[in-house]
Amino acid sequence: MSGVSTEEADQLYASYAPHVTKGLGRSTEGVIKKASGSRVQFYDGREVLDFTCGIGVTNLGHCHPKVSAAAAKQCMNIVHGQCSIAFHAPYLQLIERLLPLMPHPSLDSFFFWNSGSEAVEASIKMARTVTGRQNVICMQGAYHGRTFGAMAVTKSKTIYSEGVAPLMPGVFSIPYPFWHQCGLPPATSPHTLVSQSLYQLDLLLAQQTAPKDTAAIIIEPVLGEGGYVPAPTEFLQGLRAICDKHGILLIIDEVQSGFGRTGRFFAIEESGVKPDILLIAKGLANGFPLSGVISRKEITDKLKPGSMGGTYAGNAVSCAAAVAVVDAFKEENILENVRARSTDLLVGLNTLRDDPAVSPFIIDVRGRGLMIAVEFTPSASGTSHDPFAQAHSPKSFASRVAKRCIEKGMLILTTSVYEVVRFIPPLNSTKEEIEEGCRIFAEAVKEV
Ligand code: PLP
Repeated sequence: MSGVSTEEADQLYASYAPHVTKGLGRSTEGVIKKASGSRVQFYDGREVLDFTCGIGVTNLGHCHPKVSAAAAKQCMNIVHGQCSIAFHAPYLQLIERLLPLMPHPSLDSFFFWNSGSEAVEASIKMARTVTGRQNVICMQGAYHGRTFGAMAVTKSKTIYSEGVAPLMPGVFSIPYPFWHQCGLPPATSPHTLVSQSLYQLDLLLAQQTAPKDTAAIIIEPVLGEGGYVPAPTEFLQGLRAICDKHGILLIIDEVQSGFGRTGRFFAIEESGVKPDILLIAKGLANGFPLSGVISRKEITDKLKPGSMGGTYAGNAVSCAAAVAVVDAFKEENILENVRARSTDLLVGLNTLRDDPAVSPFIIDVRGRGLMIAVEFTPSASGTSHDPFAQAHSPKSFASRVAKRCIEKGMLILTTSVYEVVRFIPPLNSTKEEIEEGCRIFAEAVKEV
């Protein structure tokens, strides 16, 4: 049980919510009392199905008993250790668990940090240091975080339309295939879109950032905040070939798509492409702050000791929680469940397209595993198809649907681009929970 009464929670919300910095976002739903599995309880008595997993973090459900128990046990041993002086055991146990799961056996060098953004910044610093080159290429539509360095390679968020200048010079971008085509009738074939993006990359390397100046290309194998768009295998393989040709490092950001979300441990496995640097976070410790930067010893041995890390990096409690997460994956057949529930979710959402009352509003249902997006037609909201215009429209159709879902008992997320809602259910969801989510969503779309 939480430590405060309902009256105290109401009082706290009324008195102190206005003191929370506005930049955090709009927390209008009150105070959460308790969260367990796929359910979240509010102090006002509401209990809702959580199909956001705290933005893809509590992948095994809230307060997974074994993860919470491992963290609690670790709290009584050692909470904080200085890894540059002496390791704590969970740090090394986590490497032991992760090594066999790597999407390529060459990935054999690990360090842990707290957040996805820190991992992104560390990877760019690492790439610049070991290649001795300055420039970085990212994808239009990508999201890599909100810290200043991570923002510099982020191209999907409204932060750019709000006049915040990117911190890092030397960042270039190419189109993520399909991103600009999302929801539009496919005028060009997937193959053409991939070729066009790779051609843009060739142009960039010929005209703006010479290979000898280019340290890294960073990409999400499934665009997350950009609207759950999987990168075509052909594109990822094309990037790998160009990186190999020019000695550029390929950074695969699996902060959101990693740890089982797509039905594989890592989304990149589907393409067979080898990352030079792999980034993980979110689901890694099921809610405890932890991220990982994983590369090859051959690369990381070039770093000066002490050039990576931070005060809280690789926290012992988070590492102990992550060890329990990896163990739970095996014990609970999580990957198999993701694949089965993914089919249920896709069937449920696609059924909606057969309903004449709803089908005109839905133009796409897409994603991988339990990382599924529904995109509405621009006409549903009466706004343009310009992502920034949509992002600035507080009453977009998608946000009204998401709001209605909350009122009806389910949390889902929208994106800042296009008219997209995202389903991120726990990876151990049951068939019944997925059906419940689909039913609430169908009713919400009809009512809005
Ligand atoms: N990279 C990706 C792909 C993400 O989805 C996110 C967060 O949503 C980040 C990086 C940033 O992670 P964090 O919010 O933990 O800094």
